[in-house]
Order: sequence, then C-alpha cells, then structure tokens
Amino acid sequence: MFIKDTKDTSKLIDTVFKIASLAKQAKKELGNDAVIDASLGSLYDEDEKFVALNSVFDTYRSLNNEEYAKYAESFSGNKEYKELIKEFVLENKLINLKTNVVATPGGTGAIALTFSNILKADETIIVPNIGWTSYAIMSKENNLNVDYYEMFNDEGNFNLMDLKNKILNSLNTQNKALVIINSPLHNPTGYSLKNEEWEELVRFINEDCNNKEVIILNDIAYIDYSFDLENSKNYLKILDNLNSNALLVIAYSCSKAFTSYGLRLGAAIICHKDEDIIEKVSNAYDKSCRTYWSNANNGAMINFTKVLKENKENFLKEKEIYINQLNKRAEILTKEAKENNLEFYTFNEGFFITLKVDNSLRDIYHEELLKHNIYTVKVNDGIRIAICSLPINKCYGLAKKLKSILNTIKG
Ligand code: PLP
Repeated sequence: MFIKDTKDTSKLIDTVFKIASLAKQAKKELGNDAVIDASLGSLYDEDEKFVALNSVFDTYRSLNNEEYAKYAESFSGNKEYKELIKEFVLENKLINLKTNVVATPGGTGAIALTFSNILKADETIIVPNIGWTSYAIMSKENNLNVDYYEMFNDEGNFNLMDLKNKILNSLNTQNKALVIINSPLHNPTGYSLKNEEWEELVRFINEDCNNKEVIILNDIAYIDYSFDLENSKNYLKILDNLNSNALLVIAYSCSKAFTSYGLRLGAAIICHKDEDIIEKVSNAYDKSCRTYWSNANNGAMINFTKVLKENKENFLKEKEIYINQLNKRAEILTKEAKENNLEFYTFNEGFFITLKVDNSLRDIYHEELLKHNIYTVKVNDGIRIAICSLPINKCYGLAKKLKSILNTIKG
C-alpha cells in the first residue's frame, strides 16, 4: 500500500473547519445576526472581523525583501529572536534553571519536537482527557500510546491525584514520564492551574518519583491573553525548583500573542539544572528541525524581534483591548450560565469556555445547536464555545438558549 504499515491512513478530519464553513454558509443565507458562530479559535473583534494587530503588521511591512527571503541564521533560529523570546516569556527573572531556545514553526513545532525526541515508539505519553485534539494525532504520528489523565476532580479543580498516578504508572513501565500540561488558559476549558497545584506537582516530581526522569511539556499557547497578566507567569518560579530528574520544555506560540497564526513561529524553551543536559536536548531538537523543516520563518523572527524592540508598548496596548473584550465576553457567559444552571468546566481565563456535556448526549446536543444556528465544536465530554470569535452582544442570552436546548434533548 506504499505507505508504511505503522502509519494511520484514515482521513484527517478538521472538525473546526467543517463547522466554521457551515456557520459561514448560514450567515450568507440568514444574515449575520441570526447566527451564533462560536467555532473559530482565532481572535475576532466586536464586528466579527478577524484581528490582525496593527502594531505587528505595520512592523512586518517595514521589513525589506531580503529579510523575508533569507534563510534563518541557523536551524534553531536567529540569535536575537531566541534571546528576545526568552526575555519576553521568562522576563529574565522567573527561571534560574539553565535554558535554551529552539525556534519552531508555531507552538506545534515545539510540541512535535518534544513528542519525537523524548519517547520511543510504543512508549506512552500522558495527556489531559479534555484537550487540544492535535496531541492525539501527534502521538499516533510518533507511534506513541496515550494515557489520558482526568483534567478535573469532583471539586472542579485540577485532578493532581490522577495525574500523579499516571506519572507513576509510566515510571513503573518505562522508567520515564512525558506529561503535557496546557496551562495557563487551557484549551478548551480556560482552566489555569493554581500555584498550589504547581507546587504540589513539583514536590511530587522532586520527592516521590524515585529520581526517575519526568519531562513536563508546558504548552502555553494562550498565555499572553491571561486576564491577570501581571501574575500569570508566577507559576514558572515554582517550576524553577524542579530537581535534575525533571526536564521542563515550554512550548511557546507566536500565533495567538502576535495574531500571526499563518506566519508559523514559536519556540521550545528547554529548561534544566544542568548545562550538559540542555546542550544534548538542544542538539537533538536541532537535528529534528534540520530534518523536518530546516529552519523557522526568517521574516517572522525578524518581525517579532522588531516588535519587541521597537514597538512593544503599542503591541501590548493593542493586545490589551482584546484581553478586555475576552474578559467581558467570559463574564457575561459565566454569569448567565450560573443564573440558568448551565454547567461549564471550571473557567479562569482564555479563548474558550467548555460546556459540561456527557459524551452520551454530546452529539445529539451539538446537532440540535446547529439546528438553532449555534455553531460550536465538540470536545471530549463537552461542547467548546470559542469566546475569542463571539462578540459581546451575542454572549448576552446565550447561556439561557444553551440551557433550554439542553433541556429539550434531556426530555
Ligand atoms: N497548543 C494549543 C493548546 C493550541 O490550541 C494550539 C493552536 O491552536 C497550539 C498549541 C499551537 O498553535 P501554533 O502551532 O499555531 O502556534
């Protein structure tokens, strides 16, 4: 069959794209006001227009042709970009561990490098049971098994107990555990781990894992839209206490922060106590860069460097407008959900809010929402509402509608 037999040859289904195109069609037929389109995971403004930050794209247009056209300085990216991204993400003070940055095509690249370099085929990766669907696809691509930890316990907090059990299982069977934690601003629930939860996780890895290797892949794709920007990175100071049995890889994405999804830029920030480990991991990642994409987008790296050096104030101010909009949208939806007894997973901040809907009801409910011109995305045991693309006026009254449709299918 030409393709190697370990490869999954079934069609890759993009559930978001399909729903988004249905919503677009409905808007054409019924008019914009009749449609609630909460499907798309990119930022849209209050007029439902795609947001491309002026502070980013005015700068982008100021580059010269050579800068767009050239290869990057090295497979792991341009020196200045790597330094500035580190400074921007870690603020020069949060992490004292040794670090190195590898520039990647989006956060996706950083995650893919980690999947392919840390575990061997048939080993197991630990992933949240509600989460970004690409983790599962990437696992298959690398012939990895997936062990899902429950994101939430009965109190609606992070289910540390389950995660710890999954880590211990991995350590028992393969002497090593690779775990993804997508926080703060988890996709799709909007949960951000509390500092106490991070503290307990770090204590557990340092003290209860028999000095075996634990790799934390901290996916921070949405971090720059925290509703509490000032404190959003404090948890990194906790991760800074990881012992040398732990490797921390922070997967950073420029897609959301700089509204540059298509420019494909991000970074893997590799952190460990020991310089020698950093060098070995970086060398391995570099070779994967060379193998899969050669180098990251030079124009994008130069652009983000320029934005951060010359236009940072404007960029942060412009981004703040959209954080405030997200916050307002979330506030309306969560307040009205409470009033209508509609249950969301614990939401703190972010692009998405997720309705708690058992898988046994989810598909019928989702269909029913479509019939009411409400366009959302199905996730495990839930329905994702992308507040990033839903204007404030359409948030009002939505919880009531969602609840009454849910009641009709429950009978
Ligand atoms: N992680 C999560 C949770 C995401 O939702 C996304 C994008 O949607 C990414 C990582 C990676 O995005 P990108 O590769 O565009 O940076």
